[in-house]
Amino acid sequence: MDLVIVGAGIVGLAHAVEAVSRGWSVLVVERDARAVGASVRHFGHIGVTTQDGIALSYALASRERWLRLGKEAGFAVRETGSLVVARADDELAVLDDFAARRDGDARILTRRGVTDRVPVAARGVTGGAFLPLDLRVDQRAAAAAVAAWLNTRRGCRVEWSTAVVGLEPGSGVTLVRTSRGDVVARRVVGAVGHEVARLFPEAAHDAGVQHCRQQMLRVEPARSARRAIGEIGPAVLTGTSLLRHEGFAWSPSLGRVRERLAETRPELLDAGVSLMLTQLPDGTVTLGETHSYGITHDPFRSEALDDLLLREGASLLGVPLRAVERWEATYASVPRPFLVAEPMPGVTVVSLTSGSGMACAFGLAAKVVEEVA
Ligand SMILES: Cc1cc2nc3c(=O)[nH]c(=O)nc-3n(C[C@H](O)[C@H](O)[C@H](O)COP(=O)(O)OP(=O)(O)OC[C@H]3O[C@@H](n4cnc5c(N)ncnc54)[C@H](O)[C@@H]3O)c2cc1C
Repeated sequence: MDLVIVGAGIVGLAHAVEAVSRGWSVLVVERDARAVGASVRHFGHIGVTTQDGIALSYALASRERWLRLGKEAGFAVRETGSLVVARADDELAVLDDFAARRDGDARILTRRGVTDRVPVAARGVTGGAFLPLDLRVDQRAAAAAVAAWLNTRRGCRVEWSTAVVGLEPGSGVTLVRTSRGDVVARRVVGAVGHEVARLFPEAAHDAGVQHCRQQMLRVEPARSARRAIGEIGPAVLTGTSLLRHEGFAWSPSLGRVRERLAETRPELLDAGVSLMLTQLPDGTVTLGETHSYGITHDPFRSEALDDLLLREGASLLGVPLRAVERWEATYASVPRPFLVAEPMPGVTVVSLTSGSGMACAFGLAAKVVEEVA
């Protein structure tokens, strides 16, 4: 086998897509019967524009690949863009700085421009920015569609319900020990999401991998609501999202956003809230997200954090909300956007460490595959 990939989340699949396009024989080994990790628990938001530096170049490369893959594999990749809603003058100032720097990839909107495009409550909105390059997919279907396409159309086997339990270097090859027998590989990519420390403890230790744990909700209008939410095309980001996306980090106005929130809404900063939402095909809304960092997290989900998200979501949409589903999600976190390491010859571990796998995985995978070729 030219390449064995550990993990059938979006990062593993992106490497498989790149490798089969080079004519390599590829096997993807996935512990679960289908991907249920971070790659199905997010917003389905391919947020290209809010990346910065090398991540922005990976995101632009990923964008092309998503559009092509959507057509070839037959799943919807929607060119909806994203909309950042500003509800304070300092948030609008950050967006002004951003639009000036991004020259056409971010368009400043008036309050009316915002409420015409997305069904948010007009109260408190000072304006916003539309980011036309960003894409949307149905996060519950996209990874499965890519895996099925790889399997049926590109001859790439995905071995489900099979755990990789060890890797042993040989001469010019690696022995991949799995729960269903051994495989010999010329190269291995470990795309195990946040679980880097299990198979690659030294790489995780050297990089200082932590786990970023998030609470997420699927919501719909509460029974008491007097109106439906309506159609939401773009991903909707808000002022708290400005603090968490690298693209805004250099803005001189960002400090004022943080100071104001620290003074007036400290609970949002304490919970690491980045208030954001997207709509699923059935009309319900994915609402998130909180962030908390650690190596081993308490197993107890916080009702208070869910309530906070529900209140913030209701205030944004102007509709009382109720949760239909609740879940937690985890990604690996280090102070850099990517972890790429070679823990042993012929083995590369890849993890997207700033919550940007949907946006950046395909661009990064192209580089990794080129380097290990
Ligand atoms: C709440 C949330 C919101 C997010 N929002 C966004 C967003 O808006 N935009 C964006 O770009 N990104 C977003 N992200 C980040 C994105 O979801 C991740 O970067 C991406 O899904 C990571 O993909 P992955 O393949 O590395 O991990 P995963 O999807 O977790 O896949 C790893 C796979 O490896 C398998 N595995 C692990 N160990 C083994 C083993 N030993 N043997 C076999 N299989 C194994 C697991 O079973 C799993 O299926 C978000 C993440 C979260 C959690």
